[in-house]
Amino acid sequence: MDARPILIAIDGPAGAGKSATAREVAVRLGLPYLDTGAMYRAVALLASRSGLGSELDGAGRAAVVEIARRLDVRFSGDPRRQRVSVGGEDVTEALRTPAVSRLASVVSAIPEVRREMVRRQRELAARTGGVVEGRDIGTVVFPDATLKVFLTASPEVRVRRRYDELVARGVAAVWESVAAEQRERDLRDSTRPDSPLRPAEGAVIVDSSRLSLAQVVDAVVALVPGVCAPNPLTP
Ligand code: C5P
Repeated sequence: MDARPILIAIDGPAGAGKSATAREVAVRLGLPYLDTGAMYRAVALLASRSGLGSELDGAGRAAVVEIARRLDVRFSGDPRRQRVSVGGEDVTEALRTPAVSRLASVVSAIPEVRREMVRRQRELAARTGGVVEGRDIGTVVFPDATLKVFLTASPEVRVRRRYDELVARGVAAVWESVAAEQRERDLRDSTRPDSPLRPAEGAVIVDSSRLSLAQVVDAVVALVPGVCAPNPLTP
């Protein structure tokens, strides 16, 4: 029998629905949830507070690497209401601003930053298993995951989701800027030399463009080996 813990890797571009899906799958299966994007966002937040921006020279990169090495990031609460703190400060909302999204994709292209985050992600989830979401979970962090999902959706739908999410949080979002930011971030994430975003070998590609969240969650749960998903057609 395979005694390894269940580990579900969910990767994909921004706005594909990874977070919502990963949280619900974690709740359904009673597994821990790990949002690896929040870790890169935490590095970005501290970098911006230190006055660093997206144009990083050698000294700037070294400063970001140092921030990543010293990062004290913690997750608490159940997957649906998870909070993120850095150095004891709750930064859950501060991590979600467009400026932090942008800088996260810049700092995450630095190989030393990735190495540090990947080491921590393995430490956090290798023993317990869990639902781990990000960009390189199936390709680099946990290539032997129980299940690897590459969740995607059409660019239109992904922009719509991000736009609605920002508006719901009271951010004065402009459709064109959301679309441009997302294009830029996806391009940077998928063309960086270190761990570019791409489907892992053996990943199941799920296109969520025409699916509700519940349908995506059902589809992912049904793919987990050994888990019998409820079939709505049989009473
Ligand atoms: O998933 P989220 O949008 O929170 O991720 C923010 C940024 O962090 C991404 O645009 C990407 O650049 C980076 N990231 C990454 N690898 C991961 C998770 C996130 O490079 N595993």
